[in-house]
Amino acid sequence: MLEFIRSDLAEFAAYNTRHTDHSHLVDHPLDRLDVNENPYDLPAELKQKLAWTWQNEIESNRYPDGGYLALKDAIAQYAGTFTAQNISVGNGSDELIRSILMCTCLNGEGSILVANPTFSMYGILAKTLGIPVVSVDRTKNFAIDLPAAQNAIETQSIRVVFVVHPNSPTGNALTQAEIEWLRNLPQNILVVIDEAYFEFSQTTLAGELLDHANWVILRTFSKAFRLAAHRVGYAIAHPEMIAALEKMRLPFNLPSFSIAAARLALSERDLLLAVVAEILEQRAIVYEKLKQLPALQLWQSAANFIYARSSQNLEELTETLRQQGTIIRHTGGGLRITIGTPDENTRMFDRLKALLTE
Ligand SMILES: *Cc1c(COP(=O)(O)O)cnc(C)c1O
Repeated sequence: MLEFIRSDLAEFAAYNTRHTDHSHLVDHPLDRLDVNENPYDLPAELKQKLAWTWQNEIESNRYPDGGYLALKDAIAQYAGTFTAQNISVGNGSDELIRSILMCTCLNGEGSILVANPTFSMYGILAKTLGIPVVSVDRTKNFAIDLPAAQNAIETQSIRVVFVVHPNSPTGNALTQAEIEWLRNLPQNILVVIDEAYFEFSQTTLAGELLDHANWVILRTFSKAFRLAAHRVGYAIAHPEMIAALEKMRLPFNLPSFSIAAARLALSERDLLLAVVAEILEQRAIVYEKLKQLPALQLWQSAANFIYARSSQNLEELTETLRQQGTIIRHTGGGLRITIGTPDENTRMFDRLKALLTE
């Protein structure tokens, strides 16, 4: 209707996964097993430390330290043998995905390649920037269809390949064959390896990142580190790629409070990541229970969620579950169920079982 808006924007919807009404939450707790968050909030003692920092060290009237040097140093040390020059930080890794797209494909300079089902944000952000998205399929265990991917890079102007390690929503880590293919991609193609679930999978390609100037690893504080509210993600890459990302980011993209939260999370990582073991244990329990339901086809997961498919009407199923108090995600032709607390997992299973066997 507004004539000054780009005509192609009419096709897009604003991103909004859920409309959480907190007043409603008080009497009917909703089990939010839909966006792969850690089910545990920060421990009270860390919230107090953060509150202390806010009261005593953060000057609300001042812009944040726009260089983020102390945070970058801490990330570089956490991620391996890197320096601050290998690190860029974003307002969530979503911001970094957009910066990567702007640094590479904008102005008609190329397309991106994704293998579906995968994290939807790559395609969504690319389209909002007018960047073409080339998709290939996955095999029955959700590995990338490599001949199709190879054909795409030989016949189309692919500038960036996005992979998730392990993939969302399907939970599988990259196979040796996929990694070998990424290693052999030509230097004029950027490989983005999204390791949002690294703390759960404990598998990473960071060890060989410095051998590949055309690789970027993305990580986030939103998942295992329990800081989804604070919106902090980071990229690890060759210093020249980092310099390009730095040109794209907004001047003060991270609020001071988020910088403080991420620094605290890294310095207290042993405490924060201690629950990862419990979540993985719960994942095994949930997997074994779900396996009892013949209506579901399941896959092993290397992350904090489980992917399942079924011939049932999944749109209806997820809606009924939501009304009963458990939110899971219907995506990529299946169900993606985040591992929550033991109680949340039990309620999820009992409700799902009742719906699938009624
Ligand atoms: C959750 C997720 C992200 C987004 O992380 P933010 O830092 O919260 O923006 C990125 N990639 C994948 C694969 C994710 O699952």
